[in-house]
This record gives sequence, C-alpha cells and structure tokens, in this order.
Amino acid sequence: MLQALPYLRPQLYFKASLTALSHAMEDQVLAATLEQPLVIASFQRERFYRQEAHRYQRLAQRSNQVYVLSAPETDFANSSEFYEKVAFEPEDGLSQEWHLVVIAQNYATCLVCRESVGSLAKNEQLPEINLSLDTDTSRRFEGIWTSERGVSLKAAELLLERISVYRPELASKIEEARTRFGIGEYRSINGDEQLAEYACDIDTDPFVQRLVTYLQASQYKLHKAYRSITAQARKERLINSISTAIRRSLNPQEVLQVAAQELGEHLGACRCLIYRAQATDEAAKIEHEFLNPGISSLLGQTLPLAKNPLFQEVVRKGEGVCVTDTLEDERIAIDDNITQLAQNYGISSWLIEPVLFQGRLLGIVELHYCGGTPHPLQAGEIDLVKAIATQLGVALIQAEAFANLEDLNQQLEALDRTRSNLIAITGHELRTPLSTIQVCLESLASEPDMPIELREVMLSTALSDSERMRKLVQDFLTLSNLESGRVQWHPESLTVEECVELAISRIRIRAKTQKVPKIKTELAQNLPLVRADGDWLVEALAKLMDNACKFTPPEGAIEIEAHRNGNQMVEVTITDTGRGIEPNRLEIVFDRFYQEEGALRRTAGGTGLGLAICRQIVNGWGGEIWAESDGKDQGSQFHFTIPIVEAIQEQKPLKMKSR
Ligand code: ADP
Repeated sequence: MLQALPYLRPQLYFKASLTALSHAMEDQVLAATLEQPLVIASFQRERFYRQEAHRYQRLAQRSNQVYVLSAPETDFANSSEFYEKVAFEPEDGLSQEWHLVVIAQNYATCLVCRESVGSLAKNEQLPEINLSLDTDTSRRFEGIWTSERGVSLKAAELLLERISVYRPELASKIEEARTRFGIGEYRSINGDEQLAEYACDIDTDPFVQRLVTYLQASQYKLHKAYRSITAQARKERLINSISTAIRRSLNPQEVLQVAAQELGEHLGACRCLIYRAQATDEAAKIEHEFLNPGISSLLGQTLPLAKNPLFQEVVRKGEGVCVTDTLEDERIAIDDNITQLAQNYGISSWLIEPVLFQGRLLGIVELHYCGGTPHPLQAGEIDLVKAIATQLGVALIQAEAFANLEDLNQQLEALDRTRSNLIAITGHELRTPLSTIQVCLESLASEPDMPIELREVMLSTALSDSERMRKLVQDFLTLSNLESGRVQWHPESLTVEECVELAISRIRIRAKTQKVPKIKTELAQNLPLVRADGDWLVEALAKLMDNACKFTPPEGAIEIEAHRNGNQMVEVTITDTGRGIEPNRLEIVFDRFYQEEGALRRTAGGTGLGLAICRQIVNGWGGEIWAESDGKDQGSQFHFTIPIVEAIQEQKPLKMKSR
C-alpha cells in the first residue's frame, strides 16, 4: 500500500503512538460528529484485535460500514454480526501491516503502517529497557498517518479490494461505500491529479484532545515503568551489598552493622536499629544503629520487649508490624509504656520487622521516622525490609553454625589432648610400675634362695606399684564417668562434720604407712545440713586432704574449716602450709592430668586427675570449687561450696546435675 502512495514520506512510529493515534481516530467516530462513516481497521493478528473488540461494537452503532480485518488465531472468522469481520490468511502481507481508515462526507483520515523488520532484534541491544518494558510496546512501525482525503480514499480502495477477495458476498455493500464516498475515482495517482484535498469543516477538537490524553497515558506508563526499574535496581544493589557482606564475613556483628547502615540510608529512615532478640526475651540491647544527623542515638541502650505490645504482636504473628502514625495508632495509645517510648525517642512512624529462621526469632530490624510528620511506608519498601531481614536470618544462622563448629573443634582438640595425655600416662604411669612388678616377681620366682628380708622388699614393692596402677585406672574411669554424665547421683541431707570425719579416717590409713602433717578441724557451730551425695562428698574431701598431705612436709599442718556462706551454701576450706601454688596456676590445677612437675617427673605420686574429679563432683551439686595460694612455699587453700538443705524449697527438690 505504501508503494501505491510513493510521494508520501513514511515515518517511524512506536506501537504506543499508533495505539494512541488509532484510539483518537476511533473516538472521533464515537464522538458522533461524523455521519455514517466508512471505517476499515486491519489488525495484524486476532490477539491485537481482541483488545479492541469492545470499541468496534460501539463503533458499529455509529455506522453500518465498519470492516475489521485480522489473521485468525482462535475464533476470529468471517462474519456480519455487528460489523463485517474479514479473516485473512496469516501468510497475507496484511499480517505485517496495521491500517485504520475513516472516511465521512466531510472528513477523511488514514493510518497505513508496516511493522519494521528486526525492530525486536534491535531492542535486544538495549537490555536495560527490555528488562522491564513490555517488548510489545517497543515494537516499531513504518508508515503514514494523514488527513489527506485523496490518500485516505486510495487506502480505502485498496483495503476494500482485499476485503472483496476474502468476502466476495459483500460486493454490493462495498460498492455502496465506494459510490457514497467516491472511492476509486482517482485512478492515476502518479499523474498530475491532485490527491491532497483537506477536509477542514469538521470539529477536530475531540480527536486532538483524545490524542493528547492517550499520549499522556502512555507517557505516564513509561514513567512508571522507569520508576519501578530504578527502584528495582536500587533494591537489588542494596540486597547485593548486604549479601556480599554476608559472604565476605562470618562475623555477624559486621553484617548487621552493614545492613543497618545500608537499609537506613536507602529508606531515608531517621534511625535504623538491628538487635538480637528471642521471642521470650524481657529486653534487648541495641547493638547496631544507623542515625540521621540530629537524631538521638539508642546504641547500647536496653529496649523493653516483654512489655512492648508491638514486639509481642510481631512474635504472635511471626511477621512485621508497621505503625504509620504513632499519635493515631490504638496499639500505642492504649499502652503507657509504649507511648512513653515513642515520645522519648521522637518516633512518628515505626516499622518492626522480625529476623526469622525457620520460624525461630533471631532478631529485629526497626525503622524509625521522627520529627512529628508521619512517613507512610510503601509496600515495596516494606518488602525490601523483609528481604533484608531474610538475608540477616541466614547470616545469623550461618554465624551460629560456624561458632558451633569452632566449639566442636575446640572440644575435639581437648579430646585429642586428653588422648595424648592418656598415652603419656599409660606409657609411663602404667608401664613403670608394671615393669617393676614384673622384675620383682621374676626375681622371686628365679631365686628361691633369696634372703627373707629381700623377698619382703620385693613383694611390698610389687604390691605398692600394683596399688598405684589400680588408683590410676580407677581415677581415670571415675573422671570419664563423671564427665560423660553416666554417674547416678543420690542426694541426701548430710552433716558436714560426719563427712569430714569419714574423709579423715581414710587419710589415717595413709598415715599408717607414711608420716603426714597434723590435721585439725575447725567447723562452725550449728552448721546447717547440706544436700549432696554423701559418697561423692567424702570422695572430694578425701582427695583434697590427700593432696594437702602429699604437698605438705610432715612437720606442716592441715586445717579443715567449714562455715555458712550466705543463705544458700556452706563453704568448706582445706588449708595446708605446704609448697603452695603459683598464682597463675590456681585455675589450671583443676585441668585433667595437670601436675606441676609433669607426669614424667612426678615425685609425690598421684595421677593428675584428683582435682578434675573434685570439680566435676562439686559442680554436680551446683557448688563451686577454687584454689588460693600466696605462691611457692606459702601453703594452699582449697575452697568448695555445698547447698544448704533449708535453702532448697520443698516443692522444688534439688535436682542434682549429672555433670
Ligand atoms: P595429683 O594426683 O597429681 O595430686 P591433682 O589433680 O589432685 O593430681 O592435683 C593436680 C596438681 O595440683 C598436683 O600435681 C599439684 O601440682 C597441684 N596441687 C594440688 N593440691 C595441691 C596442694 N594442696 N598444694 C600444692 N599443690 C597442689
């Protein structure tokens, strides 16, 4: 068709402009200023027609000469209901074209276009536009739009010719249109005949007004699309920067700080707080904050949670709470605490978003808008806070998992150390006495004539060494059982005095074979009953006394003292005047296998497990144990506490900890 009108210079149109133009042309008909016009519209495909079908039903009420052409896709077919529908073959050149012709007695206008080949391909070079703009609206067409009557008549003539090919039965109706509007009278358009003939005696205002409205509308759509692209891009940048921080660092402090900063800045908040919180927490300390200049800081302060109805709502619903205006919101008005909080911190609009992981509350993100003017948050902004909170949930869990891993590693290292120590102990402590026993027994067996005194020495050496081995194995098993929680506790009400006596009587057995320092007991009058497992209490006392004897020369002294320590505990102290402990060793003497000389140079006997066992026992009943000493040769004091029976409420019987 364009070839038939060679003197017209085609122009490039975007689809949006063509839609605006054609709607304005149709509206001119609908405005009822034209009498029974001829309207011919050719759509490329049925789907484009379908979007306009309702307009054509209305157009058909204005004229009986309305023709709509389209390539069928589903149910578009030749028909004469309402107006004439003409279904052309999809291979027809018309499927590349877009036409609209309106002709009345004193008015003519036409739009004749062909879709630019490769318009879509070119668009792909503009990916940022393609991303969000509907590719359909960026389709381009080449063609003309004119009000020249001659051109419009020519266009109508060509289209009517095509129509009569597809719908020959309409011949008389088409003929009627031709006659009425003088179509086909200009046969030689390349000659001197003047095609240009303007029809100006019609009110074109509705057309122009509608055109402007449609153009405005499409401009507005474009504007909105760009705005959403920009918002999307900013959102993606923000989420990226936080994800990068998460990837870069396993330190949750760093990640939370970056998130508070970026989120606060991005959403123009006066304050953005991020803190860790669990659903049952009473209060939370503000650990991370973004602040706008002039806003008071809450960093380091403690926020109430249990008494904050907004926080409780977040916990109950498992989702964020948004207060647009703190002065108007009922949840705030009915609660004095929260009203006070909002006033003190100058909060006008308030968003509290939970940081969750698999439904478990890990923390909170809060946005505050201050200054008296409410700042309603847009849905997109709230979505952004949610997205960030989700990222933070992952970051916190990741950090927790890492910390657990480190913990486990440390435990493994400790286990490894224990294993090495055990090997050293078995290597020396067990092998040495074992070989001594072996030598003694072999000598006894191979030398039956051995003098009786020597036989006795041999036998007693073998016996004492086997006793040392027995103790080591026993201590090791005891400690393993205590540490692994396999020990069954039998708590009972006891007098400290009785237990101290039992422990001393054990020491007396030792005193039979070697000289031990004097032991004095100094127990306070009216000591209350204590609640503990009696056997284990005697065991701990005996071990501490045994150490005091071991590390104190026979001429020294040992004192066992006990007094009430506050309302809950009795404190027992074993003091000796022996070799003392360096201040920096006071804690590590309780480590497994710790011995000042090291296992291999041990002079005083023992396994290095005694104090570790004592700590496990005392911790088992909820007490504490510690050592004091002024240093080398200054003597030592070992203290431990035992719970008092009266202090343990009857309805809550003491549950002995198994470890
Ligand atoms: P051991 O079987 O070696 O006594 P313990 O665990 O009971 O093992 O004690 C660990 C170490 O703590 C001892 O080897 C010793 O160096 C130090 N120690 C314990 N009790 C005393 C004490 N009363 N005076 C000085 N040092 C002590």
